[in-house]
Amino acid sequence: MAVIDQPTITLRNGVQMPQLGLGVWRAKDGAEVEHAVRAALACGYRLIDTAAVYQNEAGVGAAIRSSDVPRKDIFVTTKLWNSDQGAKNVRAAFEASLERLGLDYIDLYLIHWPMPKKGLFVETWKEFEKLLAEGKVRSIGVSNFTVEHLEELAKHSETVPSVNQVELHPRFPQEELRRYCSEHDIHVQSWSPIGGQGSDLLDEETLHDIAQDHGKTPAQVVVRWHLQHDLIVIPKSVNEQRIAQNFDVFDFELSDDEMAAIDGLATGQRRGPDPNEFNTA
Ligand code: NDP
Repeated sequence: MAVIDQPTITLRNGVQMPQLGLGVWRAKDGAEVEHAVRAALACGYRLIDTAAVYQNEAGVGAAIRSSDVPRKDIFVTTKLWNSDQGAKNVRAAFEASLERLGLDYIDLYLIHWPMPKKGLFVETWKEFEKLLAEGKVRSIGVSNFTVEHLEELAKHSETVPSVNQVELHPRFPQEELRRYCSEHDIHVQSWSPIGGQGSDLLDEETLHDIAQDHGKTPAQVVVRWHLQHDLIVIPKSVNEQRIAQNFDVFDFELSDDEMAAIDGLATGQRRGPDPNEFNTA
């Protein structure tokens, strides 16, 4: 089993989180996701990002439980789905995730979307605080929260989210949100980091040129861009070669000029939904 010296991020409560992990959205439960998680653990990944709504927690858990890597060395994130927000729903939803995963605790539990029009994220967060106090989760955070949502949360709670997982890639770098999070010691995690399924981000000439100079692929260059911006990054793949490729990024470094050239790809255009509008239950 590969043991790779990999960067970790220290969350505000002292918990160590690997900076590079495997995302499993759209990986089918059963053989597909189990194979992906096993392949990832074998090449050194120690962070797996799933969610109740991905409907693959069972496969993720099965792969983790059957792995040679001790549970304590694997950082597992899952997320509370929108329809489970609200004081009376959180605990049952959390226990159901834990049950599907077949684990005793979660390393990071996230509120998947703020759903501001429902007005439930503050009371949901209070339940997250209880899970944290009980030791059922090692850290708690949010996903798809804007500065406005984070400020609203701060008005009602002393517990600052450890992580905010948001859409973030060279075309949509979220600079203002990153500044705010950095000032408040909230670590930003990038979803759709290499552009997401069906994106043409990796066709950008800038990325190809830089990749060629380093003997790497455009995807590896983009993963490296996230790491060098101190972001936590979770590229998804169900393909063994691409899983390995996305993790093979610790033997090169982008120069300041290369980082700036990639920063220059920003268009400000999201691919995913606007968190203020997304209300799907
Ligand atoms: P990614 O940016 O990770 O892109 C995934 C796509 O890129 C897949 O089609 C994958 O195909 C392909 N791919 C992977 N590696 C390579 C490579 N080296 N070269 C070329 N293509 C590659 O997008 P995601 O949207 O999946 O985001 C990553 C993770 O973030 C998710 O899996 C999920 O865990 C999380 N997420 C969270 C959200 C939230 O609301 N909190 C929303 C969206 C995602 P293949 O599998 O065939 O390799």
